[in-house]
Amino acid sequence: MKVFAIIPAAGLGTRMAFAPTEKGKKPSATKQFAELDGVPVVVRALAQFAKSEAVSEIYVALRATEIAPFRKRLADFPEVLAKKPVLVEGGEHRQESVANALAKISGAADDIVLVHDAVRPFVTDEIIRNVIEGAKAHGAAIAGVPAVDTVKQVERTSESAIIKATIPREKIVMAQTPQGFRYEVLKKAFDEAAADGFVGTDEASMVERSGHPVAVVMGSPRNFKITTPADFELAEFYLKHP
Ligand code: C5P
Repeated sequence: MKVFAIIPAAGLGTRMAFAPTEKGKKPSATKQFAELDGVPVVVRALAQFAKSEAVSEIYVALRATEIAPFRKRLADFPEVLAKKPVLVEGGEHRQESVANALAKISGAADDIVLVHDAVRPFVTDEIIRNVIEGAKAHGAAIAGVPAVDTVKQVERTSESAIIKATIPREKIVMAQTPQGFRYEVLKKAFDEAAADGFVGTDEASMVERSGHPVAVVMGSPRNFKITTPADFELAEFYLKHP
């Protein structure tokens, strides 16, 4: 049984701007390429999978123009290169980026495919193993953490949002990545989503709609998604305080 890892890293990171972009100047680095202590965020995430003995192959989805510079940058990280990551072209949505990578994988039905956000650099070997074990046992498993805030369902109006329901906190889990699936489960979910024109924000939502139960295994608050400049400051703090 093989374990494949897909890292979608083709986002534009529109919610993140590290520096104001002046007219005529190059736009600031998208969040997955921003460097934490000299190492791009995506390389940090990638390195965790590269060093995991459980992971056989890694696929990274990048925007077409970023493939060559990224390959060059990887020369500085021999421990990552040793795993021979395959760089593929991403798409307009995260789902398309993952689909492009999935199309390159020749998996057997029982192989495991992990999908991990490029912008979650603090994933640990323990979380990766938990998700692999969960996916082996249930066919589909994701990392998640219990909600700490009370969650409200709202109806949005043009100027505000009105609460319609309070969802019991014990019923809420915040979904993280890695999300792991048996190859046949994920392939079926992607084929069905493509046929129906469904676009989800994560792979679990696609597998759920295809009727397969998805288990949740313990993630970690540190395995957060870098989305805003404040998140980047938190990431720098975690690096200094491992
Ligand atoms: O935008 P969001 O924060 O949901 O992105 C999650 C992950 O999906 C990021 O690693 C991002 O680079 C990736 N992504 C992608 N292709 C896109 C959009 C997002 O690979 N078209």
